[in-house]
Amino acid sequence: MTESEGDWESWTWQMQNRVDGVEGLASYISVSEDECKAMEELATHFRFRITPYYASLMDADDLHCPIRRQVVPRMVELADAAGLRDPLDEEEHSPVKNVIRVYPDRVAFCVNNECAIYCRYCLRKRMVGSEEWSMKKRELARGIQWIRQTPAIRDVLLTGGDPLTYSDARLEWILQELRSIPHVEIIRLGTRLPVTLPYRITPELCSMLQKYHPIWVNTHFNHPKELTAEAARAADLLTKAGIPVGNQSVLLKGINDDVETMKRLCEGLVRMRVRPYYVYQAQLLDGTEHFRVRIEDGIALFRALRGRTSGFAIPQYILDTPHGKVPLDHAFVKGRDGDDIVVETFEGLEWRERNPL
Ligand SMILES: *Cc1c(COP(=O)(O)O)cnc(C)c1O
Ligand code: SF4
Repeated sequence: MTESEGDWESWTWQMQNRVDGVEGLASYISVSEDECKAMEELATHFRFRITPYYASLMDADDLHCPIRRQVVPRMVELADAAGLRDPLDEEEHSPVKNVIRVYPDRVAFCVNNECAIYCRYCLRKRMVGSEEWSMKKRELARGIQWIRQTPAIRDVLLTGGDPLTYSDARLEWILQELRSIPHVEIIRLGTRLPVTLPYRITPELCSMLQKYHPIWVNTHFNHPKELTAEAARAADLLTKAGIPVGNQSVLLKGINDDVETMKRLCEGLVRMRVRPYYVYQAQLLDGTEHFRVRIEDGIALFRALRGRTSGFAIPQYILDTPHGKVPLDHAFVKGRDGDDIVVETFEGLEWRERNPL
């Protein structure tokens, strides 16, 4: 296929021409021996896929490139056998296939098993790109039916995989069905496509989505290198359609676990009017040990941002567990001393606030 400018910006062309082999990858980076071997050995385990757009953000020669490390397999993935397959027991928490209920009032509905790229640290590795987890229309209908019959559910998070890899028509069918359920108040989409395939965010998609408001979107940027003009345009189209856009990152060792990089990421997101929402501790998941940061170090990282950038540029650091999300906060409240509450200011000074018993 010849690649004209028009093709490059077509999201279906990008999906159809994803890099999934050594030769393809070699036109973007000089592939190392380790990467080469890993691609082969992980082919049945957790294969790789990269959109040409995302591949073009990789550094050709730097093995530590933060884009490259997110998507190109490495042999260390096979060295870690301590991790789990489904660390959040999502399967145990699914009343029907792919509807995950951990909270009384909201569910995560994995409507899709396909993504534009396969992130090496992905929590849902077990389903991403795997036939067994694909959702037939009949299975989607069963999930929707369960939500219809469960009046406690007021918030439905469509995730996957990535719901935006569906066509507008398939997505609209799901939204129409959900909107016909009176107790569903908000619908959220969890999607990485503004980062990995920003051309998917078209004016047509946005005008379709805004018919089903309130719609919220959470996307998934991990590094300032991902904040391109194309990504900014995608975010702008979404926010102009009245969709609040938030961001969820994963804290990844050597990628975004230093104050300077995290600050640049968060401030860049805010400039794009994307609100940093959560940063997740990487799960104890098979093949991801090399990405995990010590939780104490993660807490210190977000502590360091406090007071040093706009309050709304600071995301909440979260440990996800089978029993819900737990905020990993630095304790600014030191305790009570008589009639005072003792707190720590952002500069590390002690402040006493009178607060009689
Ligand atoms: C993350 C998650 C949600 C949404 O949680 P919020 O804290 O409301 O963003 C809902 N259900 C499941 C299963 C989740 O993992
Ligand atoms: S986009 Fe999300 S679901 Fe898809 S591979 Fe990456 S982390 Fe996993």
